[in-house]
Amino acid sequence: MGRWIRLGRWARWVAGFALAGAVAYADGPWKVHDRNRPLPREVTPGERPGDPPSDAIILFDGKDLSKWETASPGGGPAQWKVEDGAMTVVPGTGSIQTKESFGDCQLHVEWKAVEGTESNSGVFLQGLYELQIYDSYKNKHRIYADGVAASMYGQHPPLVNACRETGTWQAFDIIYHGPRFDGDGKVLRPGTMTVLHNGVLVLDHAVIKGYTVHGAEAKYKAHPPKLPILLQNHGNPVGFRNIWVRPLPEPESDGGSSPR
Ligand code: MG
Repeated sequence: MGRWIRLGRWARWVAGFALAGAVAYADGPWKVHDRNRPLPREVTPGERPGDPPSDAIILFDGKDLSKWETASPGGGPAQWKVEDGAMTVVPGTGSIQTKESFGDCQLHVEWKAVEGTESNSGVFLQGLYELQIYDSYKNKHRIYADGVAASMYGQHPPLVNACRETGTWQAFDIIYHGPRFDGDGKVLRPGTMTVLHNGVLVLDHAVIKGYTVHGAEAKYKAHPPKLPILLQNHGNPVGFRNIWVRPLPEPESDGGSSPR
């Protein structure tokens, strides 16, 4: 404070103006409590936790695989089994991916490990960045930390092991921001994942190092801003249900009101 008082009147005026400007423009062009600032768009939440909100795109509601196709080779209809409101991986039929492409998003996926297998599968954001599915209940299958359930495979172990018992449904809630590339394919900004596993924070704005690989350092390769979401077929009959997604707007495009 002493230094502030010792500043001349003119210097104080300039400093004060700069500070006020920084406050006014810290969150876009809006002033504090600006009544011209658009109010948030209304979304009706689901009745229970995990239910899709009104603006979600339903990717699987337990009835059919119409939003999915075989990922490779050659695509074609998804071959996984649909029964009793769930779909189950059928070994040998390939991974499946959404017909629609997505970039930044909020994604809800429920999955179920099965007794007698490691229940290896995975949710690949943009078909490239794996959030691991694995039966890690009480760490029953021996695997490295960056390969357990809810790890960003090969990159980040989850903060804690929040697995439910084998054979019970579990939920991933994922906030995904994809990487950005310049025209030469250089990474302008890496991607990030924030993940709740059964409501427990397990990845906290974890930085994606590159596309998922096994046994090697991940690195990036430039790709389009939107790509399909992929579910991995690792030969284990893992179950899935209640899958929905909410594409997220560009943070810069809405006056700064969207989550970062
Ligand atoms: Mg996997």
